[in-house]
Amino acid sequence: MSDYNWCHNPSCHTIETQSRIRGTGDNKVLRTMKIKANRYGDYQANIWNYFCNQRCLMMFLNTFGQEIANTYSVKQPSETPIKVKKVKEESYRYSWNSNERQTYMATRTTIERANNE
Ligand SMILES: [Zn+2]
Repeated sequence: MSDYNWCHNPSCHTIETQSRIRGTGDNKVLRTMKIKANRYGDYQANIWNYFCNQRCLMMFLNTFGQEIANTYSVKQPSETPIKVKKVKEESYRYSWNSNERQTYMATRTTIERANNE
């Protein structure tokens, strides 16, 4: 990857902000934002290497979302094997009538990944 990208929103250059103004005198333009690589940290597939902000990302998705969904379509659901554990435990709630904390038995449900065997 080069040191910078141009924002991938095809309409980035139409958004009226001072940060997009380039040129001199009567030859001013709104220009697509230049994005410094890894500006938010050095991890791969950082979406902010390709979009200058959330507005541009959402404009891009509104324009190309159907094509993206067609390209990376999901034809069937996926499943992750899990174990569900329910544990009874003592918990507390506040009673506004008696103005005190009351204990009650709560059920905590936890999801754990099952081993892939
Ligand atoms: Zn942009």
